[in-house]
Amino acid sequence: MRLHDSPEEAAFRAELRAWLAETLPGVPPEPAAHDDWDARRAYDTAWQRILFDAGYAGVAWPAEHGGRGATPSEELIFLEETERARAPYVGCNFVGTLHAGPTLIAEGTPEQQAAHLPGILRGDHVWCQGFSEPDAGSDLASLRTRAVRDGDHYVVTGHKIWTSHAHVADYCEMLVRTDPDAPKHRGITWVIMPMDSPGIELQPLRTLTGVSEFAEMFLDEVRIPVANRVGAENDGWRVAMVTFGFERGTAFVSELLRTMVLARDLVDVARKIGAWDDGSIRRELAIVVAELDALWALTKRNVSRAARSGSAGVGVGGSVFKLGYHETCDRLGEVALRVLGRAGLAMGDPAGLASADHVERRLYFLSLSIAAGTSQIQRNIVGERLLGLPKER
Ligand SMILES: Cc1cc2nc3c(=O)[nH]c(=O)nc-3n(C[C@H](O)[C@H](O)[C@H](O)COP(=O)(O)OP(=O)(O)OC[C@H]3O[C@@H](n4cnc5c(N)ncnc54)[C@H](O)[C@@H]3O)c2cc1C
Repeated sequence: MRLHDSPEEAAFRAELRAWLAETLPGVPPEPAAHDDWDARRAYDTAWQRILFDAGYAGVAWPAEHGGRGATPSEELIFLEETERARAPYVGCNFVGTLHAGPTLIAEGTPEQQAAHLPGILRGDHVWCQGFSEPDAGSDLASLRTRAVRDGDHYVVTGHKIWTSHAHVADYCEMLVRTDPDAPKHRGITWVIMPMDSPGIELQPLRTLTGVSEFAEMFLDEVRIPVANRVGAENDGWRVAMVTFGFERGTAFVSELLRTMVLARDLVDVARKIGAWDDGSIRRELAIVVAELDALWALTKRNVSRAARSGSAGVGVGGSVFKLGYHETCDRLGEVALRVLGRAGLAMGDPAGLASADHVERRLYFLSLSIAAGTSQIQRNIVGERLLGLPKER
């Protein structure tokens, strides 16, 4: 693992920094209403289009698939610099750019790649993920949404839940059961569902922070072309593991960088209101900042290792990262509450401390123990695959 930029990386960083300095002042402010998803989609996809026009969309995607073909280190530089400059977050483009697109690159047919990758890169198409079901979250392989073959279509009926951004998505990466008689991991198929297909009903779900980021999806005889299947029929569990390799791997990196900025902002707030005089708060903040730095180093290690071994995702290192990241974020949320005092109990900004962001993030951090696989499940993965402990029965 190299910690300093090579001359090529330094040049890439300087060029990107200059582009960000020139471009960001012209980017409109984020939509004021957190729950206006049409406005969010418009904002997030407009930023994606700006990145695309400048040659920065899909930085790490291979050049033959429209990406920049950057090295893993350059990808980290891209994420670091965009966060440092406080550029817009990936937002609604999360699934498409960070794990559906990479899965199509790894597992899709040339036709599927041609049909979908340009739309993801340009910000024309937003994707969502229809994996979880009411009785299939941690035990995802128990999923029951049924796909029955009818000529060159699958007819899909079932119930998905916690589908982020479903109401503004054009496509859904979805897992369906194609063989109910096979052992549960062997009867699953990974398909692309156009979200304008007849038979899809969405029911928004409101989160703790008051936004309806998720939806429940009720599917009633939705017809999906067999040509939309990624991988072989009944081989969807293996394809899903490829998706998770990306989702738990580098998909959280810009989040981490964003949290590092938030932690440093909290130091400024603590200084401003005198909480900095409390030695125990200073110590707690120092521990959080150091842990975040360590997670950034772990990310570099995971990415360098994956690049050396030629693997697509960062593997079990992604689970170690996600576990550590969640625990550090929880700690940051707690110290934010101590620093802000009563202002930490309001979603607004009562004392003019720019506290709203810290309060919103503290509540959001709670979801990190669940999203993309719960912490208990990550511990099982680390125990079994990294530490060689006996398998769960
Ligand atoms: C912010 C956020 C965004 C999400 N976005 C999406 C999305 O876009 N698409 C999608 O498909 N899903 C999404 N999810 C769903 C997420 O993947 C599931 O919530 C998660 O996999 C857990 O499943 P569950 O909620 O059914 O909990 P359960 O599986 O019912 O788990 C309940 C509790 O039991 C524990 N548990 C279960 N099994 C074990 C075990 N074997 N060993 C130890 N402990 C265990 C769990 O750790 C947890 O604490 C999202 C979730 C969140 C929070």
